[in-house]
Amino acid sequence: MVDRLVNSEANEKRISHVQACFGSSGQTLIAPGRVLVGEGVLTKLCRKRPKPRQFFLFNDLLVYGSVVMNKKKYSTQHILPLEDVRLKSVEDDGNLRNGWQIISATKSFTVYAATATEKSEWMAHINKCISDLLAKSGKKPATELSPVWVPDSEAPLCMLCKKSKFTALNRRHHCRKCGKVVCGPCSAKKFLLPQQSVKPQRVCNDCYEQLSSGQMSAQGKNPAEGKRQGNSLNYGPNDDSSGDESTDDDEDDAPVDMAPVEDEHPTFYEGNYK
Ligand SMILES: [Zn+2]
Ligand SMILES: [Zn+2]
Repeated sequence: MVDRLVNSEANEKRISHVQACFGSSGQTLIAPGRVLVGEGVLTKLCRKRPKPRQFFLFNDLLVYGSVVMNKKKYSTQHILPLEDVRLKSVEDDGNLRNGWQIISATKSFTVYAATATEKSEWMAHINKCISDLLAKSGKKPATELSPVWVPDSEAPLCMLCKKSKFTALNRRHHCRKCGKVVCGPCSAKKFLLPQQSVKPQRVCNDCYEQLSSGQMSAQGKNPAEGKRQGNSLNYGPNDDSSGDESTDDDEDDAPVDMAPVEDEHPTFYEGNYK
């Protein structure tokens, strides 16, 4: 049981170790009642290509970062409160197998496990933590969700005007509301999306129209839901939100993308809790 781990020394040591691995670049992870449920490497679909990321599942948070040195040093920490997280399985597509979307209010993206078994383990553990957490707090699952970004490679043309062809000069932009890849003229405006950032965010002309006419809530449900099941990712509130997409939070972060991490199997500390 996770409950048994709460006050265990082993759990405390594990969390201190994770915190130490992120060093001063990370936040304090040690907290009363917090349990490290599992950890392992998942392949995260970033804007341009899939990249390995180390994930840590706590009973209340999902934390991930880039691997600088396996089990020793991680960088670029991201933290998603599990109360806001929702999972959605993704069908296998060519080399991209065993994937699922991690959807949250601030950031949504797709990850892939090495095997189908690992995928179901991860999903089961994460979902269990979410339901336990919601049961404890009495809160409702999150409905304000940020879109999963369509990867650049899936959009040779602007998805809105369907005319503008992307080149080195004609750059891609992502609508923060629907996640589509659009050209500059099709995303010239910004709109305040409070759950994503305190600053207005780039949105496509379609979303802008709907948002400003009140047909769509700035805090409401992900409009892309139901329309498509894209794979991509999104900025969180702490990321660059200037609208200049020369940086993608996951593109330029790690000093080096290491060769395949040796121990790729996830570890779940108490696999049998129910
Ligand atoms: Zn366009
Ligand atoms: Zn849009």
